[in-house]
Amino acid sequence: MNDAAFSAASIDLASVDGWHAECDVLIVGGGGAGISAAIEAADAGASVIVLEAASEAGGSTAIAGGLIYMGGGTPTQLACGFEDDIEEMYNYLLQAAGPGADPAKVRLYCDRTLEHYDWLTRQGVVFKPEYYPHKHTNTPNEAALMTTGNEEAWPYSTYARPAPRGHKPQIKGDHGGIPLMQNLLRSARDKGVRIICDARALNVIQRGSEVIGIAARIDMQVRYFRARRGTLLAAGGFILNRAMVEHFAPRLAHGNYPNGNPNDTGDGIRIGIGAGGAVANMHDGFICTPFYPPRQFLEAIIVDETGNRFINEDVYHGRLGAAILDRPDGRYYLIIDSRHFSVLERPPMGGYPVAGTGETVEELERELHLPQGALTRTLDTYNRDAREAEDSLFHKHAKYLVPLDEPPYAAFDLTPGNGAIFATMTFGGLDTLPTGEVLTADKQIIPGLYAAGRNSAGLPRCAEGYSSGMSIGDATFFGRMAGLSAAARRLRIRHEQE
Ligand SMILES: Cc1cc2nc3c(=O)[nH]c(=O)nc-3n(C[C@H](O)[C@H](O)[C@H](O)COP(=O)(O)OP(=O)(O)OC[C@H]3O[C@@H](n4cnc5c(N)ncnc54)[C@H](O)[C@@H]3O)c2cc1C
Repeated sequence: MNDAAFSAASIDLASVDGWHAECDVLIVGGGGAGISAAIEAADAGASVIVLEAASEAGGSTAIAGGLIYMGGGTPTQLACGFEDDIEEMYNYLLQAAGPGADPAKVRLYCDRTLEHYDWLTRQGVVFKPEYYPHKHTNTPNEAALMTTGNEEAWPYSTYARPAPRGHKPQIKGDHGGIPLMQNLLRSARDKGVRIICDARALNVIQRGSEVIGIAARIDMQVRYFRARRGTLLAAGGFILNRAMVEHFAPRLAHGNYPNGNPNDTGDGIRIGIGAGGAVANMHDGFICTPFYPPRQFLEAIIVDETGNRFINEDVYHGRLGAAILDRPDGRYYLIIDSRHFSVLERPPMGGYPVAGTGETVEELERELHLPQGALTRTLDTYNRDAREAEDSLFHKHAKYLVPLDEPPYAAFDLTPGNGAIFATMTFGGLDTLPTGEVLTADKQIIPGLYAAGRNSAGLPRCAEGYSSGMSIGDATFFGRMAGLSAAARRLRIRHEQE
């Protein structure tokens, strides 16, 4: 199967027998990207329709933790006593985006991070100025601010000065997407944006290469919507489309927990391919195995079937997940000693079964079927390094270096297929400029077509470097950029003709 097999072929204007509705900017998808785009387009004076396949708008953004990656000295950072610098944030995010980074998008995102924070608060989003100091998947209380990636972990700690940049809209626990989308949706509706639910976009309508609307299914009927200025695809990722995942991103196919809403089926990407759009970075995505909480597990070691460590165990859970799914047929164990047994009143978040226990290291080694002496050697080196507060092999931060020398021992099984959670979502999408304009394979702009959020390849590009907050930060910010561009298009065309 080649990429073209995933195209939702476009419809020629000649076969459209009448418009169901018309507007200036037509948006597919009422999640974080689509609604942010709608707000900006409406503010720019455009009439806006959003087509939403679900019965309620919100998308994956609404069910997300809601962390948004912002820095450079936001009011929340400053109120919590943290200084930050836009250049430090840029250096970090460029590395976090990995070898496929789009430097122009990273630059624009960082340069406008304070403005984006301000924009979100103007839509009613509240960030409680409180810092949560521990490693966790989200702030468990109402605190807004936490460190959400690899900022303090080697090698990222060598690229940029760490700062906490994850901002969660105020709510208790892992539900920041709810207040975020409630506020964005209220703001959009207040500005006159029309959101049509139970409307599934199927194809673009083109006049030559120009995109002028969308065919959508509503009540089992195909209806045609005309966009006078621009059509914007913001229909989310494709982690729920098994065929697309296997074709484009086989590493993610080893995951067992698709992180998304049921409409994360790549419709928008396929519609964009049908209009002549190229895709980018389709192979990569988020791979999370949440080995913390409990945060005490950062003091554990993680070994593979050779009995050797392979990573600094203070990394973000996505970096560990990526390392494991790089070699999904290996065996992986998290090893603790009796000092950590007290945290086991609740099972680890990652769903890891116990793989073995031992009164001695040798006994545990035998239970795990590791090569004789391997785990003993690994622990000897690790414990010596921990006492000297210097991880000579993988540079784990000294604050997590605690000797594992108090038997008995226990091992949790992180091996894919044995019960461990590997949550995945996609990063790839249509190739776009920072303005949201969709590009063809030879980098030509498709007139009238825009994409944002997980319908496009944006800020997050690399499993190994991902930080929580990059996705919603990207979706809301570049959604805004695309909405502004689409709203400005007709004016620009008129200006060019004068
Ligand atoms: C549980 C969970 C937790 C997460 N936590 C975080 C976090 O804390 N921070 C972070 O940065 N990221 C997080 N993410 C990822 C992040 O939520 C998404 O990457 C991001 O919100 C995507 O935004 P979007 O606007 O592109 O898509 P969405 O918000 O999913 O919006 C797309 C919309 O398009 C609609 N749609 C799809 N197909 C069609 C169609 N054919 N016609 C019309 N409508 C259609 C969908 O129904 C949906 O409403 C999390 C994701 C999940 C699932």
